[in-house]
Amino acid sequence: MSFKAEIIVKSPGRINLIGGHTDYNGGFVLPTAIEKTIELSLSKNGTRTCTIKSGDYKSGFSVDLDSIEKSNFHWHNYILGVIAEIQKIKGEQLGGFDCVISSSLPMGSGISSSAALECGLAKGLNELFGLELSEMQLIELSRDAEHNFVGTKCGIMDQFAVVMGKKNQLIKLNCKTLEYEYVEADFNPYKIVLLNTNVSHNLSTSEYNTRREECQAALDMINQKSKTSYKYLCDVTSESVKKMEGFMPAKLYNRALYVTQENERVVKGVKELAKGDLSFLGKCLYESHHGLQHLYEVSCPELDFLVEFSKEYTDVIGSRMMGGGFGGCTINLVHKSGLKAYIEKVAKAYYKKFNIELTPIMVSTGDGVTITRQTN
Ligand code: ADP
Ligand code: MG
Repeated sequence: MSFKAEIIVKSPGRINLIGGHTDYNGGFVLPTAIEKTIELSLSKNGTRTCTIKSGDYKSGFSVDLDSIEKSNFHWHNYILGVIAEIQKIKGEQLGGFDCVISSSLPMGSGISSSAALECGLAKGLNELFGLELSEMQLIELSRDAEHNFVGTKCGIMDQFAVVMGKKNQLIKLNCKTLEYEYVEADFNPYKIVLLNTNVSHNLSTSEYNTRREECQAALDMINQKSKTSYKYLCDVTSESVKKMEGFMPAKLYNRALYVTQENERVVKGVKELAKGDLSFLGKCLYESHHGLQHLYEVSCPELDFLVEFSKEYTDVIGSRMMGGGFGGCTINLVHKSGLKAYIEKVAKAYYKKFNIELTPIMVSTGDGVTITRQTN
């Protein structure tokens, strides 16, 4: 397929400092977009056919706009889902297009290449066909595409960060009300580095959806026993959850305790960050990982090893797994003077233990999805 792109979309990945698995529980998160992006070159083609090609898969497919349905090819569903969700709102206003995708985001590593792809395509098509969808509509339809076509019942955080991210800012997002504020992302003299385990234990989608169900079950039980009618788990305090110990199954108790404590950590962490206390935020990251490992049980030996290893080094002030879990990256706050030496040591130790190369990824904050119109 050779064509001249009308627009180029750059859609970023995201990091989340703290607030793991709180988004779908109506809690707080602290994500931002990063400078690494998926790039989509898009053009209208004047037909009812869409042709998509991904450089990463060295393959592509064509689909008729009048017969959009789920595919057996996993990655096609992110595209098909966005098309279907736009059609639900805008019907035939969406016409045929050609799209070429290339990416500098590792897939399945917790940096949300999935939301980058969905939101980049949604915002690109919005521009290309003058659909006039609001940013919130684009965020929500991208999330719905993932629910309905891919089957991951994700929260709103990833899509929100990918669209709303701003360079040098974090977003403190209330996932219940969707109120948000930008928080200065000044980590100097520390740097944010992601350590990619390069493992993906294939449990992520099924276990992710199971955690959602467990959180709902925990909430139903808390409401029933305390005669309350909370809508989200994050409406409950961790102190109230503690009072339920022994009155609900241990697994559900642990899930609820982690989620409520994590939500409180985001609020406290942001307050201290605003005062410039990075060591407090770092401590929150360690506590977060402890909860994800032992209470929420979404970690894996490779992630746990990286977090434990970092505790021996004073240059690292915080580390935790990031994203859905069962593989992907840890996010680390590391003093810039010791960064190079630390990366060398941890990569060596990781290779020795698991016989797998560790990939360090230096990240900095970046803007949300951007679009440039190509001139002749
Ligand atoms: P993450 O969002 O953390 O990267 P996910 O498993 O949620 O991990 O999403 C990764 C999936 O997104 C890939 O398996 C693929 O289906 C799709 N994807 C991401 N980037 C691309 C790309 N450049 N081309 C095609 N599909 C992609
Ligand atoms: Mg994803």
